[in-house]
Amino acid sequence: MMQEIDLRVKPDFVRAYKEGYPLISKESIVNLDKVKEEGAVLNLFDEKGKFILKAYHGMQNKGYGWALSSKQGEKIDSAFFTKKLKSALEYRKEFFENENTTAFRVLNGEGDGLGGLTIDYFDGYYLLTWYSLGIYEFKSEILKALKASTEYKGIYQKKRFDSKGKYLNEKDDFICGTEAPAPIIVKENNVNFAIYLDDGAMVGVFLDQRDVRKTIRDKYAKNKSVLNTFSYTGAFSIFAALGGSTKTTSVDLAKRSLPKTTEQFKVNEIDVDKQDIIVDDVFNYFKYAVKKNLLFDMVVLDPPSFARSKKRTFSASKDYVNLLKEAIQITNKGGIIVASTNSANFSMMTFSDFISRAFKELNGKYKIKERFSLPKDFRVLDKFKEGNYLKVVFIEKLK
Ligand code: SAH
Repeated sequence: MMQEIDLRVKPDFVRAYKEGYPLISKESIVNLDKVKEEGAVLNLFDEKGKFILKAYHGMQNKGYGWALSSKQGEKIDSAFFTKKLKSALEYRKEFFENENTTAFRVLNGEGDGLGGLTIDYFDGYYLLTWYSLGIYEFKSEILKALKASTEYKGIYQKKRFDSKGKYLNEKDDFICGTEAPAPIIVKENNVNFAIYLDDGAMVGVFLDQRDVRKTIRDKYAKNKSVLNTFSYTGAFSIFAALGGSTKTTSVDLAKRSLPKTTEQFKVNEIDVDKQDIIVDDVFNYFKYAVKKNLLFDMVVLDPPSFARSKKRTFSASKDYVNLLKEAIQITNKGGIIVASTNSANFSMMTFSDFISRAFKELNGKYKIKERFSLPKDFRVLDKFKEGNYLKVVFIEKLK
């Protein structure tokens, strides 16, 4: 068990922590020099020596650690993690009972009281993603808790942190149980996805877009031509095709997107030959589409927050207005643009402003049809709005 360290919080930060703000910042602590190692359990006190909360030290983006408990006597052991997990599993009860969807998130970091760790479920397999060395120090207790509270086929992991030379012998991917077939076929609202649990950082689908995909299939795709940009494995295209779109065009820079997207169509018995899958820079493709006078009834925009390609860097906060302008120009009047971002750097308000600016600069008119943020299984805290990073807006182009 790691040592516990008592720390003093600067007066300006006490209130936020008392009210449940979960991310511990470096600036908020007086005597940081006492902390030597990630994974240390921290007891935070106010200036009068009154206990505030228990946290752990793990370096992640802007943060120095995450709150764990408001009880001073709480032991951070496998019983503690079992308690957190049981309540996380209970919160997803309806997902476990739904036979049409067999892939979802079971623990969403700080939203479930365990910042720095997510756990996803893929038809009986559990995938843990560790976001700091600090949380990884609790691996054996957390695994013990997971094994005690679930019936699992197998357990996998991804390490998303710099281990600073530690744990280099502990590989990513398979931990215990039986190994998953490659791929395993999971279901999302009755649509199949081929998932690879041991093939690099990403498994093939981003679960946080589930409600958006369903909406595209059920309400928007019928008889529409659909352009899916930054398409990765083509998840939006699959749902559009199953919703009756006349044709989908998927565009992604990564070479692997072609076989990956082909596979997702095939596992859903969709005729791939009737779909276009294009390996290209989206910005090149926009130029091509304009030159060829191509127009689409629906354009999906789902860029990464930040990407560097040979020719350019793309940053959602700087370049989204331009991206929208490109899309608007190749969308039919009356068509729909699905604008999505997972950037935590700006709010839904700012995103709405990007949309307004893009149309204004082109002298266009639009109407917002619906908006989405994270789905229920991606649980977030009211006190930590940054945790709700996903913003998706369905926009109708009127002019
Ligand atoms: N929309 C996808 C997820 C997108 S992930 C889904 O729903 O599953 C981001 C993708 O953008 C990656 O696959 C990456 O290869 C691609 N990408 C990044 N920059 C790009 C660019 N300039 N042109 C085309 N694709 C790009």
